[in-house]
Amino acid sequence: MKAILFRAHGGPEVLEYTDAPKPEVRHGEVLVRVRACALNHLDIWVRGGLPGVNFPLPHIPGSDIAGEIEEIGPGVTAVRVGQKVVLAPGVSCGKCAACVAGLDNRCRDFTNLGYLIDGGCAEFVRVPEVNCLPYPENLSFEEAAATPLVFQTAWHMLVGRAELAPGEDVLVLGAGSGVGTAAIQIAKFFGARVIATAGSDEKLAKAKALGADELINHKTQKIASEVRRITAKRGVDVVFEHVGTATWDDSVASLAPCGRLVTCGTTTGYDAKVDLRFLFVRQLSLLGSYMGTKTELHTVMKLVAAGRLKPVVDRILPLSEAAAAHRYLEAGSQFGKVVLKV
Ligand SMILES: [Zn+2]
Repeated sequence: MKAILFRAHGGPEVLEYTDAPKPEVRHGEVLVRVRACALNHLDIWVRGGLPGVNFPLPHIPGSDIAGEIEEIGPGVTAVRVGQKVVLAPGVSCGKCAACVAGLDNRCRDFTNLGYLIDGGCAEFVRVPEVNCLPYPENLSFEEAAATPLVFQTAWHMLVGRAELAPGEDVLVLGAGSGVGTAAIQIAKFFGARVIATAGSDEKLAKAKALGADELINHKTQKIASEVRRITAKRGVDVVFEHVGTATWDDSVASLAPCGRLVTCGTTTGYDAKVDLRFLFVRQLSLLGSYMGTKTELHTVMKLVAAGRLKPVVDRILPLSEAAAAHRYLEAGSQFGKVVLKV
């Protein structure tokens, strides 16, 4: 089969469009003919390598996949050959206390398609049957592939971790990113007021079209001062963080008393300082969040199929142009998802 793979970590130039062995399906697994695979910042981290993580090489990246079932392995009962599917990115043991409680993103063996196992930047991918989600027929393969990782992540952050309540104020950083576009919609779905930040007025206009109530251009305005102005000095109840070092101080300073900051990433770096006096006097909560559960993803996909939440696709490139897609994503000028068509 054709695939994108890398034999060593590095820049986009390590990505090869080449032939790779078609995976052999095992017990409880299905072989999916990939039609579209969306990129995430995770792909850039995996390609570059992470300290302390031993990725198997050569490696096929790609966590967000839509396609059709080509073949089913022994013991597979819930899906059939030819069926269209969207895949849950998370793969876990399915047997431990966390997994049986439906908290699979807390499993000790939790990984993602394209992380410690081969992913969907290929014509075929092998996945556990349990990762097959009902296909939302209102979406193209590219839109479907653009949905799972960011919507699951944003849902887990806002609902699972920050326990967002109706009427609260939410600051969504990096509104042009995939998680940002998901967070705006989910926060509005829960009846929150959304303040969105982005680095260009063009992106902010698109954020407004998605439902954002207030806009901050972080290139020309100071985030914390604008939040104080918009909220009449109170601050926001929830800060949706994934930017890291560049925005951390503004994020903490933007919190209202008893506010919650929830973070899922550090695209600009992971060094941050916390003034503990503010933490306890203002009774702040700093929450980490990683991916989401399959149960949350089932809920998300139901709302997507009903048209209540919509994936945002910035652009679609052919699989063979994965390196160009990585460069584009790293440049940060996208609004929404970059998707590879297979
Ligand atoms: Zn488990």
